[in-house]
Parts: sequence; structure tokens; C-alpha cells
Amino acid sequence: MTSFRPDADFARDMDAADPLASFRQQFHIPKAPGGGESIYLCGNSLGLQPKGVAAALQQELEDWKTLGVEGHFHAKNPWLPAHEDVSALAAELVGAEKSEVVMMNGLTVNLHLMMASFYRPTAQRHKILIEHNPFPSDRYAIESQIRYHGFDPAKSLVELHPRQGEETLNLEDVEHYIGAHGKDIALILMGGVHYYTGQLFNLERIARVGFHQGCVVGFDLAHAVGNVPLKLHDWGVDFAAWCSYKYLNSGPGSVAGCFVHSRHAENFSLPRFAGWWGHDKTTRFKMGPNFQPMQGAEGWQLSNPPILALAASRVSLQLFKDAGMKNLRDKSVQLTGYLEYLLKHLNIPGLAIITPENPSERGCQLSLTLAENGRAVFDALTKAGVICDWREPDCIRVAPVPLYNSFTDVYKFAQVFAAAAGNKLQEAV
Ligand SMILES: *Cc1c(COP(=O)(O)O)cnc(C)c1O
Repeated sequence: MTSFRPDADFARDMDAADPLASFRQQFHIPKAPGGGESIYLCGNSLGLQPKGVAAALQQELEDWKTLGVEGHFHAKNPWLPAHEDVSALAAELVGAEKSEVVMMNGLTVNLHLMMASFYRPTAQRHKILIEHNPFPSDRYAIESQIRYHGFDPAKSLVELHPRQGEETLNLEDVEHYIGAHGKDIALILMGGVHYYTGQLFNLERIARVGFHQGCVVGFDLAHAVGNVPLKLHDWGVDFAAWCSYKYLNSGPGSVAGCFVHSRHAENFSLPRFAGWWGHDKTTRFKMGPNFQPMQGAEGWQLSNPPILALAASRVSLQLFKDAGMKNLRDKSVQLTGYLEYLLKHLNIPGLAIITPENPSERGCQLSLTLAENGRAVFDALTKAGVICDWREPDCIRVAPVPLYNSFTDVYKFAQVFAAAAGNKLQEAV
């Protein structure tokens, strides 16, 4: 671990020595209100646009313009199998076999499709276990599934809470709860990284204790994919879903991802909602009346995929492949560690970092709260050209992403933050 220093030269030296520094040039950085580049620390909400996306979209438009329906076969990236190479890139990123991943739909839709197959409540075992304060869409989706199956969310939804006075969950508490009550739990469906606190859960251990109790284990990886290394196959996770517009930079509302473990690849007895793109592709266009699902995750596809969204996703996932998730994570640990180090020098009364201190319990995001004036400080940041985000009731989320953020970004942010909160960054220790 590098020992950090608070001077500006340090950030410059770190950027000069950063083997991933050149990836920043592959992205459009939004402008600040006063001109110049903004300090963009919001890749956890919407990742920046890779410069290659425009050409990739233009290529699809051109193929559509010149080929019409023939583009399904003769486009530069033929549309018929367009999801396949993109899914393969995504599979690599989440530690999955190629057949275990498919890019399709939106995240919440995929969660529903997965619950349709994997939430099989019985009178004895009907509960779904989630983390405290989950992303609202997940809660809505889960509660509606519980009701759809004729159960009552008040009795079937279990939300794990941090200990009194703590902000984040204790892993041992999670394991202990599952160990003690697992026989009532039909499905564990937790986030990989908590959207509000930035806490990274130990998915491998949660999955292990869940399986030991006979639970089905699925994860929402919206804030984990492209942020932390994942090994979904090795961990044995039953299913997972994620969106691609946050850390994966695939554009607003772009196509989501879905993982189904290979042990379910040929389990055609699972209930599933079917559509023609999930039908065996060798006979799909015989247009027969009987649904024969494809093996693997593709068997859960419904519709033919959105080509423009896939084109953007392909460009971005290729950048992840070029950079390497391990390299990205190594830089990320440094970058976020540096942010934490600088913030601790700010000496701002009332500032708290609610994200865990241990790098193995967080991704790149730090969640900050101020005892007072949090919203006013956030507004001042915005005015000064910092793009991060505010989450009710009182949280400023700051996410330096290793693919395009620099140590200089983090240094500048700390200075602006210090000024906004009416303090000065102490130059020397
Ligand atoms: C961003 C996010 C969503 C958004 O859902 P969409 O279906 O993509 O609109 C859902 N869940 C979590 C945990 C998220 O972070």
C-alpha cells in the first residue's frame, strides 16, 4: 500500500505512474459550469460515454440504412447473434462461463424473470432475505413477487439491519441470521455493493451459508459489476442481475445483464416466462407452437435484443477487457484510499464516512454525511464543477472510478469539498 501525501505533487506523481491513465482519453468528460472539465465522480450513477460509442452507433445506423432487414445477417456485427459476443465480454467480467450470462432487458425486469424461476415459496419456506434499506426498485419488485405468490410481505420479507448505532451490516450477523433461520428462507436476494452506504458484501460467504441451509441465492450487482472482481460461477450463485449504465458506461437505460448458474442450464422443469428469443435458436425460425428453451442463460431471453444499446455496451465492455478487472481493482483501492486519506485531513466538524474503512468491504464509492448543511455543501460542489450525487436523507456519494478518474480528480475534489465546507485542506501533517 502506498503511503499517501497531502500535496498536489503527490497526485501528479501517482497519475504519471498509473498504467491505466491513458483510458481516461477514451471517454468524454462533461464540462464544468465555468468551462473546463468537470470533476466527475458519479460513475456509480451514470458512467461516462466512451468515445468509441458514437462510431459504433453510427455503424448500426448505416447498416440499417443500407441493408434494412438484411442487417440481421450482414451488418458489421450481424444483429441475429448480436447479444452473444457482448454477453461473452460480460461473462468474463463477472467470473462466469459464456453460457451463464445474457445481456437483455432492464435490471428490474431481469430480477422479476429470475424470481419467476427461482422464488418457489412453500408454506414452510417462503421468506426472502434482503439487506437494510435496499434500492427501492428491488423492494418493490420483491414485495410484488411475494404478493403474486399469495404471501404477505409483512411476514415473508426479512430485512437485515445493522447493529444499533452502526451504518453497515456486520457479516457475522448476516451469517448468524441465515444459520439460525435459513430453513424459513426461500431466497436470499442481496445487493453486491450497497447503493447508499457503498458496503461490499462478502458474496462468497453469504452464498455458502445460504446453500448450507438450502436457500436459493441471488444477487443484484448494480453497484458491484465493473466495480469489484466477481466470481459468480465459482461461488455457485444461483442467479444475478445488473444494469450496465452505472460502472459499465453503456449509456442511460442501456441493456442489462443476467447470470444463471450452469447447474440450471438444462433444468427445463423450472417455471419460466418464455419468449421466442429464449427458444432453441436452431429451430426458432421454424416458428413452431411449442417452446423449447435454449440451454443456459439465453433460455430466459424473451425478445430480440436492442441493437443500439448492445453496440454501446460492446464498446464499453471491450475497454474493461483491455484494462483488466484486476488492474482496475488495484487502482481503485488506491484511488479510494487516497480520497479517504485526504478527507480525514479536512478536519470538517460533523463529517462522517459511512462506507466501511476496510478496502475488502467496499468498492470505489465513499458515502459522506455532514451533521449539518449537507445539502448546501452539495449544492456548492455542483456550482464548483463537481459532479457527484445526493441521496436522501443526508448522503453525498462520491465514486472515483479507476477507468477514467485520476488522482488529480480526487485531489481537486478534496480541495473543493474543503472550501465548500468552509475549511482548508491542511497541506502538511
Ligand atoms: C440502479 C439500480 C436499479 C435500477 O433499476 P433499473 O431496472 O435499471 O431501472 C435497481 N436496483 C439497484 C440495486 C440499483 O442500484
